[in-house]
Amino acid sequence: MGAPPQLAYIGLGSNLESPIEQVREAFNELAMLPLSRLVAASSLYASRPVGPQDQPDFINAVAALETRLSPLALLDQLQALEQLHRRRRQHHWGPRTLDLDLLLYANEHINSPRLRVPHPQMTARAFVLLPLTEIAPSLDLFQQPLSTWLEQVENQGLERLSNATI
Ligand code: ADP
Ligand code: MG
Repeated sequence: MGAPPQLAYIGLGSNLESPIEQVREAFNELAMLPLSRLVAASSLYASRPVGPQDQPDFINAVAALETRLSPLALLDQLQALEQLHRRRRQHHWGPRTLDLDLLLYANEHINSPRLRVPHPQMTARAFVLLPLTEIAPSLDLFQQPLSTWLEQVENQGLERLSNATI
């Protein structure tokens, strides 16, 4: 008997030179987390960098995970995956990043030094709200539908990659 499974949403982000691969790998790694099951993966979204154009696009996506891990145990796993990606890439290709944010965990509100849920910036970020809408269209955030939050943010140059489904 463990804890009952809970539904968590995770935001994935990368600004690698080949960030699509990085985010796809991260989806596969999320699917293999202990006590967890990947139940939905959004398309990948690209946004052009602001300013100098010799930077890679930013790639973002959102995953839904059914998990028996506690919120902090899940955060540990996400941070271990971030480290894995950094280490793996650092050697040959210079610094690389993968950002995994715990956006939502069931209906919990968490305010600890290590973990704030819902993620404090998620209502202002199109690159979170759009992919989240794709996999959880009827979700409410702070008693408001996602569509209401989306109306309040700029598109932020977001573009859905049509061939990016895993
Ligand atoms: P950011 O995602 O804001 O660009 P980082 O990924 O470097 O920055 O996160 C820094 C810290 O944020 C981590 O040490 C982590 O403990 C904390 N943190 C607080 N709330 C969350 C959350 N909901 N998801 C992920 N990390 C979080
Ligand atoms: Mg983060």
